Amino acid sequence: MSQHDVIVVGGGFTGLSAATALAEAGLDVVLLEARERVGGRVESHVLPDGMRVDTGGQFLCEDMPEVMALAKAHGKTLVRAYVDGDVVFQPPMPLEQGHAIYDEVDALRERARNTDLDDPSVTRLTVTEWTNRQDASDEAKHGFLRLIDGLWCRSPDDVSFVYLASSDRRITNTQSELELFLAETMHSLAEDLAAKLGHRVVLNAPVTKVRYSGDGVEVDVGGGHFTARQAIIALPPVMARRLDFQPPLPNQLSRALAAWGSGAVIKVLARYARPFWRDRQLSGTVIWSEPEGLYACDVSRNRDDGALVIFIGGPLALDWHGKEDADIRNFILKKLVSALGEDAGKPLDVSFRDWTDDAWSGGAYSDSIIDVETTDAETTILQGLPSIRFAASELSPSFPGYIEGAIVAGRQAAEDVLHIWRGSRTAASVSK
Ligand SMILES: Cc1cc2nc3c(=O)[nH]c(=O)nc-3n(C[C@H](O)[C@H](O)[C@H](O)COP(=O)(O)OP(=O)(O)OC[C@H]3O[C@@H](n4cnc5c(N)ncnc54)[C@H](O)[C@@H]3O)c2cc1C
Repeated sequence: MSQHDVIVVGGGFTGLSAATALAEAGLDVVLLEARERVGGRVESHVLPDGMRVDTGGQFLCEDMPEVMALAKAHGKTLVRAYVDGDVVFQPPMPLEQGHAIYDEVDALRERARNTDLDDPSVTRLTVTEWTNRQDASDEAKHGFLRLIDGLWCRSPDDVSFVYLASSDRRITNTQSELELFLAETMHSLAEDLAAKLGHRVVLNAPVTKVRYSGDGVEVDVGGGHFTARQAIIALPPVMARRLDFQPPLPNQLSRALAAWGSGAVIKVLARYARPFWRDRQLSGTVIWSEPEGLYACDVSRNRDDGALVIFIGGPLALDWHGKEDADIRNFILKKLVSALGEDAGKPLDVSFRDWTDDAWSGGAYSDSIIDVETTDAETTILQGLPSIRFAASELSPSFPGYIEGAIVAGRQAAEDVLHIWRGSRTAASVSK
């Protein structure tokens, strides 16, 4: 039995940020991570030629203060994503028409954000139902629904409109969220945080059971046990509800965790000898309206190499999940050739990472609320229990679903624990 002040379950950016804040405040904290690595939905892979690439969360932008500050503090090299040149719309359409539709999609997104979410006429709608009621062109409605497929990685037929609008309000960047990435990989930043935590991080430690009372927590990890006064469950809601809580969680909390569903995404990287699309004044960004849920952009690190990242998101990812590698590769290359020309069919290599149904994430980029009957899921989860806090990027007051959100959520959970901690110390000294 190993005894600590606080146990943090999960070594993604939420758990790492929470544990760092608690360790800096002088608490004895242990972080238990199921995988053999930290980072969670931020991970990297070393390609055969030695290049290390992000296979999970990668991008950041100037409007995301915490992750920007962290990257700078750890001496990371910021690479500006190449965006000069034209976007390609697929199936092909004149640029002006494409941009006009996307302006209308943006207006619809703004309308969703500004909707009064207490209005009983919207409280139980899915995103598709809300969209169908809007006065907008069919192209704009279709484009807006595609955006949900691509950004929330779930069918808008499932996603709660109130959740969508409330989480989107917290995504406040004016710069593109794909503005920057790190040459050393975002995953290396997670590793830096873990290195600072040192012996406090325990890998290959999947938590199965959490016994709790008002006084403390005991968690089971394989054959071992850890006890503490407080625990932070730094897992996405879908993963948190898989833990065996003893006693079972109160009904309201259990229902709140059950309201979420995972997203589905396959992230593809196609590398080329050079960024040939730039010769034709193309940015490398491709937006497909058919099939829905497909998007590509330029992630070349310098002018001499060419790299495109392609996201297959939402129902399209579910369609491709489990298919043969060669079939996924052929599908992607065929789509790139139609969009960018014959050179797209001659990559140096194509690699991909399928996050659909991932054993320790449930999916990606993030969980969404899919039970339209639940209106207080986030508040209920954030209230937690006397000895347990729940935290995840999904539950963040800013940038939910992003790395920035994970950092903010983790630090906030640590702040809550410290508040309780300091309160109980004051009470103890008063009673002496
Ligand atoms: C393909 C992809 C692309 C993305 N792109 C971007 C991007 O460009 N920019 C951006 O900002 N965000 C991006 N995201 C989203 C971003 O990565 C996540 O929002 C963020 O990393 C979530 O962090 P978290 O700590 O809240 O959760 P997680 O990263 O999921 O961390 C939870 C951790 O808990 C562990 N765990 C699970 N169950 C247990 C258990 N029982 N016991 C112990 N440990 C457990 C998991 O292994 C994991 O390490 C992307 C995600 C993916 C997958």
